[in-house]
Amino acid sequence: MTDRCNFRCHYCMPEKQKFLPHGDLLDYREISDIASRFIDHGIRKIRLTGGEPLVRRDIEILIRALGQHVHSGRLEELTLTTNGSRLAQFAPILAESGIRRINVSMDSLDPARFAKITRGGKIDSVLSGIEAAKSADISVRINMVAMKNGNEDDLLLMAQYCAENGHDLALIETMPLGSGVDGRTDEFIALDEFIAPIKDLNDFSSLNHRTSGPARYWQVEPLGLRLGLITPMSKNFCDDCNRLRLTTEGKVFMCLGSNLNVDFRAAIRNEGIGAVDRLLQKALRLKPERHDFEKQMENADLRLDRHMNATGG
Ligand code: SAM
Ligand code: SF4
Repeated sequence: MTDRCNFRCHYCMPEKQKFLPHGDLLDYREISDIASRFIDHGIRKIRLTGGEPLVRRDIEILIRALGQHVHSGRLEELTLTTNGSRLAQFAPILAESGIRRINVSMDSLDPARFAKITRGGKIDSVLSGIEAAKSADISVRINMVAMKNGNEDDLLLMAQYCAENGHDLALIETMPLGSGVDGRTDEFIALDEFIAPIKDLNDFSSLNHRTSGPARYWQVEPLGLRLGLITPMSKNFCDDCNRLRLTTEGKVFMCLGSNLNVDFRAAIRNEGIGAVDRLLQKALRLKPERHDFEKQMENADLRLDRHMNATGG
């Protein structure tokens, strides 16, 4: 939806991040037309992300337009990944647009630590956003990026908070995307190690539950928590990934770990929306067998220059 964001999570982007000029962005009509054409081709699930999707001006216009496909039954699911800071305002609009579940990123419940990780984010706005989503009958999964010596001791509290409030919790290993980001290697921790403290106190049983993403789910008892583990680094999940990502400047990337992409914006502006049919086939052929984050973590020279806010998580 946008590469811009009102937070600056230190693992996502540098403090002084350059954003795309507004003129480079797809407008809402273009996004809506591309989405519609994708749906014609069999895409059944769309996730809105960014950057922070809810900071783009008048985003409700696009959300409502995409929601029409859910209401008409053409689209199985419309969902959103957000930092939650503007959810209190948007939750009712999301619900009206057929959004039934969302992911909200929150790496710590401690206000000072949260502000430090996000470089200035206010946790109260996120917590009240989550409450608003709950009141609008939208189920919430909290996304928590695991950081060595960063938020390891927040895990138990976060797990308890999620269990008590009926949210799923997904833990994410950091991926080495983008330049100018400090502490990539020092901060990395494999999830097996990150969850050890709660594993000692609870039983984990594997669940068949799957969403459309890479998380593998576990039931954690007696905590009463459904826990998702997203392990791009320690346990590769590329085999069954069928995602494609349309960036705000109209490029389709088939993998977070590859710079190969197809430029839809130029083609639809020159040839009209029909160009999508041809370009989608071209993009699908670019899907790599797997990403190479392990090598990119070890060797900074191999890292892609693109930050996570350009493609969404
Ligand atoms: N702004 C929204 C948010 O924070 O939820 C949506 C975009 S954000 C890029 C999507 C997800 O990617 C978030 O859960 C975030 O924590 C995660 N993320 C960002 N940079 C990451 C990185 N280098 N490695 C792993 N996850 C990352
Ligand atoms: Fe913004 Fe999300 Fe990146 Fe944090 S992770 S800086 S909230 S886009």
